[in-house]
Amino acid sequence: MAHHDSTGKPFTVAIVGGGIGGLALAIGLRHQGISVQIYEAAPAFAEIGAGIAFGPNAISAMYLIDPAIRDAFRRLATKNGFDEEDETWINFRSGFGEPTMIAKVQTGNQEKTGLSSVHRARFLDELASLIPKEIAHFGKRLLSFQEEASGKLTLIFEDGETAFADVLVGADGVRSRVRQLLLGKESVLDGLSFTGKYAYRGLIAMDKAREAVGDELAMNSQMYLGKDGHVLTYPIDHGKTMNVVAFKNKEDGLWEHDHWVLKNKGEDMRRDFANWGTPVRSVLDLMVDADMWALFDMLPAPTYYKGNVVLVGDAAHASTPHQGAGAGQALEDAFILSMLLGDEKTRCAGDIPAALRAYDAIRRPRSQKVVSTSRAAGATYALQGQARDNLDQVGEELLQRYKWIWDEDMQVQAEHARELLG
Ligand code: FAD
Repeated sequence: MAHHDSTGKPFTVAIVGGGIGGLALAIGLRHQGISVQIYEAAPAFAEIGAGIAFGPNAISAMYLIDPAIRDAFRRLATKNGFDEEDETWINFRSGFGEPTMIAKVQTGNQEKTGLSSVHRARFLDELASLIPKEIAHFGKRLLSFQEEASGKLTLIFEDGETAFADVLVGADGVRSRVRQLLLGKESVLDGLSFTGKYAYRGLIAMDKAREAVGDELAMNSQMYLGKDGHVLTYPIDHGKTMNVVAFKNKEDGLWEHDHWVLKNKGEDMRRDFANWGTPVRSVLDLMVDADMWALFDMLPAPTYYKGNVVLVGDAAHASTPHQGAGAGQALEDAFILSMLLGDEKTRCAGDIPAALRAYDAIRRPRSQKVVSTSRAAGATYALQGQARDNLDQVGEELLQRYKWIWDEDMQVQAEHARELLG
């Protein structure tokens, strides 16, 4: 496949994987005037029918990648009680007995974003609509790549086709092939570990949820904390739908299935939460099907780049979802990488490794801290260890936990990255 595009830079980028990270990066590179192609294994861009929330840092990254992303997001975003002014992220409550408040966590930054959540598939459709159709190639599963004497990279796909580029970006998710090849591992599973938790996910019609638990609990985001689990509910689709995720510790800490998503009719979930309080049980009763997702995360990778190959999003730093921050880190990656490749100091293909080195130096510590603190958050929410006996302390911790993620000034992060270009 040969692709020609006249742009401001004498190099081309191939992105493998068209999830939120890959698409956001493609939009950012085009915004910087860089020629880019996307190779996606699936027959179309696709996301699951579930909610996803973004903090102020992620919304700021959207704007800086391309204002059109934030505009699209704002059209879809749903807030607590569907109120534009609400600063509340999540009401943390007791999952047993009465749903007493443990901490009302607010984003509290100048943007007052509160919980801003969207339906994943609809958000991905919006991102896809921001790139021209001809740069997206489907049914292209990357098998390997090789560096040519010219310095160009040849991408080799499962269907036997090849493509060429100066930069290869692995945006291919938690089981990243690009990561495996870049780090020289035996398998795509190397470096991933089961976090000892699984989650049931599902959507409920909001009018039914309101009937079951009342407007206050149904229309605002809630996280119910309990022994060995926690349950998250929040509105999406401008309040028409409730997104539910019920997390549970696996007693033996092991995941023995090849598959990470198991079909579930809901009985197992109801058994797991049988002794929880009334609001939790009433919500879970409304979920007919509730697929079970094993939660894996990634051990810290020693690098996010080698030569002209680089990782973004879950391929670089797959995390548990406990701080609602994983995809936000993919957006931060997309902003910093597109900005560095678009910088005037990145003039030609020979300057690319310096840009990738700066990206790695800025992005790796922060995104890996999101992974480790997210695991710790999961332990707190399930009242593991000391948390079990001291809910006041849990409340205090929750009020502080997210500040460093949300209060990040993305312009300052970009400035630090630019300084590393020398
Ligand atoms: P993916 O979305 O996994 O995309 C990878 C793409 O690459 C896929 O389209 C795949 O088909 C393609 N691909 C894979 N291999 C190949 C190959 N060899 N060749 C070509 N293409 C390939 N994050 C938040 O910020 N907020 C939240 O509220 C939140 N909630 C979450 C809830 C749960 C239960 C979970 C599990 C995660 C949550 N996350 C959240 C994290 C978020 O979902 C991920 O961080 C994000 O979706 C990762 O995007 P990505 O583009 O890096 O990878």
